[in-house]
Amino acid sequence: MTIHATTASVSTRPLTGRTALVTGSTSGIGLGIARALAGAGAHVVINGLGDAGAIAQTCRDIASEWGVDVIHAPADLTDAMAIEAMMAQATQAFGGVDILVNNAGMQFVSPLESFPPSRWDAILALNLTAAFHTTRLALGGMRSKDFGRIINVASAHGLVASPFKSAYVAAKHGLVGFTKSVALELARSGVTCNAICPGYVKTPLVDKQIADQARTRGIPVERVVEDVILAQQPNKRFATVEEIGALALFLASDAAGSITGTALPVDGCWTAH
Ligand code: NAD
Repeated sequence: MTIHATTASVSTRPLTGRTALVTGSTSGIGLGIARALAGAGAHVVINGLGDAGAIAQTCRDIASEWGVDVIHAPADLTDAMAIEAMMAQATQAFGGVDILVNNAGMQFVSPLESFPPSRWDAILALNLTAAFHTTRLALGGMRSKDFGRIINVASAHGLVASPFKSAYVAAKHGLVGFTKSVALELARSGVTCNAICPGYVKTPLVDKQIADQARTRGIPVERVVEDVILAQQPNKRFATVEEIGALALFLASDAAGSITGTALPVDGCWTAH
């Protein structure tokens, strides 16, 4: 499905003519990033799971609001073959991907002894291995244009750890390491690779954690937010998807051409501890 622009692109928008693929962009941070990039003029490949009708409506909304083309690639990113099909779909629709945002992720919280091996495998596959596959498949096109932006949505948990999140912390630390390695390999090219490391952002992923913690601890949701979730975050507020989108937009711009190999915290001082 391709939703075509209904209004003329505005040439002053900095990403006009570029194509962005944002994994996990049917919800939360990914959707915020997709909107920010579309707002700057990029055509967008939306990826993620969810209700097909709602996703189609989201694509139409972004296309009509910003005058860009939007397609949905429904790939399950734990499946390498599905990732190959998604990258081929993007190439067929737009001739390649200029801005790749590896954002899709999931969380599972459990002591190590009872951590289900299937959850470990799924988290590593989605939060880390999927970025390897999308990146390796996007690089040829980026190198040929001598331009590319790879933005990996890691986490404060890519820089520091918390108990009971072993798979997530391992995957996010891995994603930060992957970011540095890719950036070094591409340092002499026009392709940059950076990680964004959010603290807590209010999205469905965090809403589920809040509900789970309230149930497990037998305390009200408000206390979970104050005493558990934001306990690590000194500014005591959630970051917004618009704030993460704005940083991704800057990293995607020409102005950020010398920023590569970094892991940028957006965490209200969490990792300054
Ligand atoms: P979310 O649950 O709102 O969105 C997750 C997205 O990933 C959805 O679009 C979902 O459909 C997609 N997805 C899930 N499984 C998939 C699969 N197998 N294949 C393809 N897509 C799949 O979560 P979010 O909070 O927006 O998180 C986005 C990213 O940000 C994740 O990598 C997460 O680890 C990271 N992050 C989130 C926070 C936070 O506080 N919300 C903090 C730090 C990092």
